[in-house]
Amino acid sequence: MSAGPKPAITLVTLESCNHFVGDIERGVKLYQQGGIEYQEREPYGWWANVPYGNEYRSVALSFSRDGQELRKYYCTCTQGYGNPPVCRHVVAAVLAIQGGIVPTRLALGQSATAQTTVTTYNTAQAVGSGQLDVFATPMLIALMEQAACMCLADKLASEETSVGVKIDVEHTAASPLGAVITATATIAVVTGRKIKFSVEAHDGQRTVGKGTHTRVIVDASRFMAKISDA
Ligand SMILES: [Zn+2]
Repeated sequence: MSAGPKPAITLVTLESCNHFVGDIERGVKLYQQGGIEYQEREPYGWWANVPYGNEYRSVALSFSRDGQELRKYYCTCTQGYGNPPVCRHVVAAVLAIQGGIVPTRLALGQSATAQTTVTTYNTAQAVGSGQLDVFATPMLIALMEQAACMCLADKLASEETSVGVKIDVEHTAASPLGAVITATATIAVVTGRKIKFSVEAHDGQRTVGKGTHTRVIVDASRFMAKISDA
């Protein structure tokens, strides 16, 4: 039986699948108390016994192939496999199996902004996405992506960058020449290397667009080598 990689899951990834306030912190404490037994059952699949009070909680976990995501999990306390919020026992088991807390500079709620002024260069007429001299939807999206990139800028290693993989945005109001548009991207969910942002744009008076945007953190040179091989 070939072993899977050792997991390397950050607390922010665990926090992204947690809706029980405080269970991340309680899980870290449980892990620090020690005594958690665990075993790899199959590649990427583990079970653990987590001491809890005078008893144990049994936890089953399966990780993604890169070890950075928690694919499925089960705990006797939540009795669900897959989508329940991660409980403190799952948090403690993950930390025990990977041997500690994986450092990251990412945190939910971190945000950044990018700004532009509507000129004859970024209207729908100019970029070919319409006929009118109003801020172009593709330029609104570009501004939102720019805000998301800036949000990640100081959080990645030097060889890393991010690529946009999904965008879902409503352009809710038209902006005329001269309007100053500010886009804000806020980290909403972190799943391993995949970062989902909530994005919003404002013209100083009102919201002109909002939605979500997902980026994936990649190794820049490996990514470029892979696409030129194709
Ligand atoms: Zn539990």
